[in-house]
Amino acid sequence: MAEIYYDDDADLSIIQGRHVAIIGYGSQGHAHALNLRDSGVDVRIGLAEGSKSWAKAEAEGLRVLSVADAVEEADVVMILTPDQVQRTVYAESIAPHLTTGDALFFAHGFNIRFGYISAPDGVDVAMVAPKGPGHTVRREFEAGRGVPALIAVEKDASGNAEALALSYAKGIGGTRAGVIKTTFTEETETDLFGEQAVLCGGVSQLVQYGFETLTEAGYKPEIAYFEVLHELKLIVDLMIEGGIAKQRWSISDTAEYGDYVSGPRVIDPHVKENMKAVLADIQDGTFAQRFIDDQDKGGPEFKELRAKGEAHPIEATGRELRQLFSWIKSNDDYTEGQVSR
Ligand code: NDP
Ligand code: MG
Ligand code: MG
Repeated sequence: MAEIYYDDDADLSIIQGRHVAIIGYGSQGHAHALNLRDSGVDVRIGLAEGSKSWAKAEAEGLRVLSVADAVEEADVVMILTPDQVQRTVYAESIAPHLTTGDALFFAHGFNIRFGYISAPDGVDVAMVAPKGPGHTVRREFEAGRGVPALIAVEKDASGNAEALALSYAKGIGGTRAGVIKTTFTEETETDLFGEQAVLCGGVSQLVQYGFETLTEAGYKPEIAYFEVLHELKLIVDLMIEGGIAKQRWSISDTAEYGDYVSGPRVIDPHVKENMKAVLADIQDGTFAQRFIDDQDKGGPEFKELRAKGEAHPIEATGRELRQLFSWIKSNDDYTEGQVSR
């Protein structure tokens, strides 16, 4: 069984004795920066000139510098820009300012695993990857809890990279929930697979097909929305608490029997074959190459797919319904119906 590290296994004073640069101030960036600062760590933010996030970070009282200046000052550099721009930011503004004894950190192994970034000798390369969205990482920390995280060491130049990564994980609240050790390869491949096959790709497609099947059969879209999307959270909460077994324990016998006889009809063995093909494309770099090639052209395929998703009828139904849900409150900066971000 994998070893799980908690607060007592990590020494916060290690990261408190370093100078940290957080590159990027988006979903993960704002959460790492604010949590570390609240943990007594010296933090500065590195951003591109004219960046939209610059004022946001300053409004929190954080020091914001150009990426190059932030890296120059720091001895721990956490790269939290989108994966597709990391190699350019790294080559232009980070690599020239890294010196022996510095540490280069990531929250996802994409650029190391697929060879887009390789660090110079003498520099630790490690990962602290919270297993949750950045806004949850901040929200949980403020509530005195944390989001579980993975740590990995790709290059241990100092001999202390793992202790440093654990200390950083404690600073952002990860060890409050539990931290598991992995490798860059394992984290990258399983993270991409999980989000593509199950969490994001799989679930989104399943919900859309469910909504289409009910509305095409003449049922009201609002009712369909409740049955195939809204209740999902309630079911998933039970799974998180006690696995699939607890979910089946809580639902009616009718629902449980339907689960057994119809689940495998909808998600048939063919789906597993499709999942294996998705995993193979991740492992051999086909997915990474397709993503980066499209991004290098300005993301035409990405933008087209995003617009198509946002135009699905379930989104319009959901927007109207959620306005009536006084109990669902968003406390982040997401805007309903945003077509481009
Ligand atoms: P976001 O897209 O939310 O953050 C983007 C940030 O990077 C913004 O502040 C943006 O500035 C800045 N940025 C964009 N381009 C540049 C550039 N060329 N130079 C400097 N700064 C730039 O990223 P995420 O937080 O989603 O992802 C960051 C990393 O964390 C990725 O490796 C991702 O895989 C990983 N991760 C993300 C999770 C998540 O919750 N989203 C979960 C776990 C890991 P501006 O917008 O002002 O231009
Ligand atoms: Mg991911
Ligand atoms: Mg029902």
